[in-house]
Amino acid sequence: MEWLESAASVPLLRNSWSEWVPLKSSCLTMTDLDTNSNVRRVFGARMKDLTTAKPKSKVDIVEDHLDSLGLGVRVRRVEGDVRSEPAFRHLLDADVVLCATDTHSSRAVVNELASGYLLPVIDVGVRVRTRKRDRLNGLVAELRVVTPETPCLWCRDTISSDVIRAENLPPDERHQLKNEGYIVHGIGEPVPSVAALTVLGSGHATTALLALLSEDGHVLPSGYVVDGFMGDSMFTGPKDPAAGCRCRQQLGLGDSSPPSFILM
Ligand SMILES: [Zn+2]
Repeated sequence: MEWLESAASVPLLRNSWSEWVPLKSSCLTMTDLDTNSNVRRVFGARMKDLTTAKPKSKVDIVEDHLDSLGLGVRVRRVEGDVRSEPAFRHLLDADVVLCATDTHSSRAVVNELASGYLLPVIDVGVRVRTRKRDRLNGLVAELRVVTPETPCLWCRDTISSDVIRAENLPPDERHQLKNEGYIVHGIGEPVPSVAALTVLGSGHATTALLALLSEDGHVLPSGYVVDGFMGDSMFTGPKDPAAGCRCRQQLGLGDSSPPSFILM
């Protein structure tokens, strides 16, 4: 569960989807809701949650908030990391998956759903852009609708095998390699974000879901960027999947070619 997912959960639930499955990411623990900053960004979180004897996890806070709306939509809570097979298996019960995780390794696993299991994935990410180190010049939300017919995250160069290897290193080893210059800075480190940007990203992810379900969904762009700072948007490529990409080789293979799980 990440800030963006907590923001996306509210419009999803208000659209009355029959069931929504929140996943708790391995990078967030029971004590993750430990700063004023987190309270500002996690939907449903309150300052008093920081002082309870047994801190709630973010996924519990979001689910409690959704339940409190009383809309009668069943929410299934799953404790687990999507990079582990037990948690991944829960996704196979869904009709569409919204991916808002912030690591390449978790997105690589979710990416496999579209080609291997023919399950549509809406991937969304947000980014604060700066110039001259500290001057804000962009609040960007990026959307990618990954289906068996559209480019996957590998086709789009959205995820990197080098970054995945670095993310999967033990923290001490990653820190050492970073100091030695073998790993670029930023991997495994928190990135800046603001609530307004997560709302922008989550809103567009939810509208992408409505577009995907519409009669014209098959002709709509599968990738685009919206900049809430500059007030503009643009399509992103490629338009078609790369012929040699793994997503073309494993179409519909399902468990005959499952993802590489790192946490068993
Ligand atoms: Zn691909």
